[in-house]
Amino acid sequence: MTSTDRVVRLMTMDGAFRLIAAVTTETARGALAAQVTGDGLGLRLAELLTAAILVRETTQPARRVQMVWRDRRGRSLVADALPEGLNRGLVNPGDSAPVATDGDHILQVNYTLPNGALHQGLVAVADGDDMATALMQYMKQSEQIVSMIAVAALPGPGGVRAVGGYVVQLLPEATREVIAAMTDHLGNLEPMTSLLEGRGRTAAELAATVFAGFEHAELASSPLRFGCTCSEIRVMTSILTLPPVEVERMLDGDPLEVRCDACGAKYEIDPAALRSFRAGDSVPQA
Ligand SMILES: [Zn+2]
Repeated sequence: MTSTDRVVRLMTMDGAFRLIAAVTTETARGALAAQVTGDGLGLRLAELLTAAILVRETTQPARRVQMVWRDRRGRSLVADALPEGLNRGLVNPGDSAPVATDGDHILQVNYTLPNGALHQGLVAVADGDDMATALMQYMKQSEQIVSMIAVAALPGPGGVRAVGGYVVQLLPEATREVIAAMTDHLGNLEPMTSLLEGRGRTAAELAATVFAGFEHAELASSPLRFGCTCSEIRVMTSILTLPPVEVERMLDGDPLEVRCDACGAKYEIDPAALRSFRAGDSVPQA
């Protein structure tokens, strides 16, 4: 599936602001097609996917960012922003119980630091707070990044008709005057929901609109798409982490049907192939 989704990175020439802008409609549609979501939940997952992309691009574009939006009972939406622009989403992995769309939530951000340690940032999301508000709090508390953020998903065919967002990050060069000018400018912009169907249909258009009137340069532009990292090898590896009694039962049973929760891909695992994989024999071809 081709996707026109992109994320772009720009900077103002005075070094005061950096902008990450993304349009993620096709990516979100791909993710939603593999999940069971209600309308409200689907929009939330689309926003979470966008938020994960924005965090990855703002902090370290080459890293994998996982973002979790958890309700009071621990049920969650999960978005993975993987390197190379690959993205996927999950509704309550491993559990079919519904995720609450209202009430308090926790927004959790996971990624691996260059030294191998796991970074985990948490912010509380009050009932009624939107994704942009939660993300601004996360950026400030966990990344010490002061930013102005907008994220929106509009309902439509395939769950969404338009999804996107942006982060305007204040850099150390920003003076009080330019901050006031930018705050004023962003305050007068149309809401994100209108930009997506107006002056911000693509990431490049969105970026040009958000930085209109501020001399700027584009630093990077890269494609985004829905996709998954699952494979027959990964499925077999995860089966072998199950309790030995269960593994033995599978090795003696019929071919196993396994569905990837993230992308919906179906794998039929032959017990003989699983047996030789466990023995460390040559890897069977998918
Ligand atoms: Zn998959």
